[in-house]
Amino acid sequence: MTNPDCIFCRIVAGEIPAQIVGRTEHALAFRDLTPQAPTHVLVIPTRHYASAAEATGDDGAAAMGEVMRLGVQVAEELGLDGGYRFVVNTGPDGGQSVHHLHLHLLGGRRMKWPPG
Ligand code: 5GP
Ligand code: ZN
Repeated sequence: MTNPDCIFCRIVAGEIPAQIVGRTEHALAFRDLTPQAPTHVLVIPTRHYASAAEATGDDGAAAMGEVMRLGVQVAEELGLDGGYRFVVNTGPDGGQSVHHLHLHLLGGRRMKWPPG
């Protein structure tokens, strides 16, 4: 299931270029266009879910699991031995701007807590 108006579906389809750093059957990892840390990767399910809240049922759970597992794998492959942060912005209060579920993988510097 894809949405032709969705920028991340278009990356999955190869219509928009991206620096791909990992993939599984149902997930894709690529570098964020505007990195907020030395390493900033987005991990998405290849199927379109508008947000984490929309990823319901068994398919949604499997997609979230696969995305997080790929995030861990990419973090290891990119050598983030000191740790990293996963973020899933969801809805307006969460600061979500692209409406295709995505996991931010941030690393390469010490992260602050709490976030802004
Ligand atoms: P959100 O704010 O929805 O959590 O995150 C969306 C992220 O997508 C942002 O960090 C933004 O820099 C990134 N982004 C937006 N458009 C593109 C694009 O065309 N290519 C890539 N690689 N990243 C994008
Ligand atoms: Zn999409």
